[in-house]
Amino acid sequence: MMFRSLAALLLALPFSQAFAQTPDTAVAPAVPAADPAFARCLSGLKQAAAGQGVPAASFDRFTAGLAADRSVLELLDAQPEFTTPIWDYLAGLVDDQRVADGRAMLTEHADLLQRVEARYGVDPATVVAVWGVESDYGRIFGKRPLLVSLATLSCEGRRQSFFRNEFITTLKLLHAGDIRPEGLTGSWAGAFGHTQFMPSTYERIAVDFDGDGRRDLVGSIPDALGSTANYLKQSNWRTGQPWGFEVRVPSGFDASQAGRTSRRPLSDWAARGVRRLDGSPLVADGLAADTRSALLLPAGAQGPAFVVFRNYDAIYSYNAAESYALAIAFLADRLRGGTIPQAAWPTDDPGLSRAQRRELQTLLLARGHDIGEVDGMIGTNTRRAIRTEQQRLGLAPADGRAGQRILDALSR
Ligand code: CA
Repeated sequence: MMFRSLAALLLALPFSQAFAQTPDTAVAPAVPAADPAFARCLSGLKQAAAGQGVPAASFDRFTAGLAADRSVLELLDAQPEFTTPIWDYLAGLVDDQRVADGRAMLTEHADLLQRVEARYGVDPATVVAVWGVESDYGRIFGKRPLLVSLATLSCEGRRQSFFRNEFITTLKLLHAGDIRPEGLTGSWAGAFGHTQFMPSTYERIAVDFDGDGRRDLVGSIPDALGSTANYLKQSNWRTGQPWGFEVRVPSGFDASQAGRTSRRPLSDWAARGVRRLDGSPLVADGLAADTRSALLLPAGAQGPAFVVFRNYDAIYSYNAAESYALAIAFLADRLRGGTIPQAAWPTDDPGLSRAQRRELQTLLLARGHDIGEVDGMIGTNTRRAIRTEQQRLGLAPADGRAGQRILDALSR
């Protein structure tokens, strides 16, 4: 799952499923003595893991030399310093490069995707779109050693019971041989592999699609794409139904009617004057009048509008954030050759693709700003440099946002 929406995901997950903390007893041998509290916590985790079928020898092997990395605690408690407008979020996640790469993946893995569709009923464009948004088609798995992050979060911070379950589940996957311990990395919160599943999701959903006896979402693309489709199937995917489509709402439409959880029969929206973009009726193309649907206005009444169905909810369940679900839905449409959205976002300063973000960073470096490497990721240093340039150029607001206007101004 993407970093942006991780907080939403963590809030959405049940924390109560965690087990009771085991008493502190012996100190695990491999842990540096300089960190006795962490060592005691690991010892408790070892007992809890044993209760879930992870033998002490396996625990010792997988956690040998494990030391806490407290930088993950700062991320756990970090408040977003900057609220990303949805058009920025989508401009980076659904850019031309990701569409081109996704089309290449559709071709390269056509046979596999056909078999995945035959088994789970989820079409290739949707499966590839999830893959593209989650890990950029297997390019970005996260750089942090998985067990280090999860052990630290299991022992300190405010979500310990949740992360204890994730930590022990990871050990179970390692003990079962599904994944290998060497080079096992993920996001700071423990999502990893092609599909960026949390370990507990992995245990519940992952499938051995290539039939080698291991459910390997790090090393096997067939397992990863099969598991993605299985996730959507388990989330009540309706084969053949669209996720939704862009619509027009009449002027004066009551925006308070919008929202994913405000579901009505499709004919209700039609009666309120909602039409397809070309003006044709909503109830068509095999969609029944009583199809349960919601209307989304992700940027408010002045921006693009969408009618969404059950498959949108299936995508949403992958990571509970509207911008995230729309990124996958839009990418899938673009992989099918569509153009979405056609209505403009309500801004005069559109968002930037990853290529444009790199261009902007190159311009900032050329002006002597110390922003590190050009990676297309807009972090604290890049935003600070943008703010300085906005002030120098007299652009308001000087908010550090990476948009079209500052890119144009620096390009001149
Ligand atoms: Ca496999």
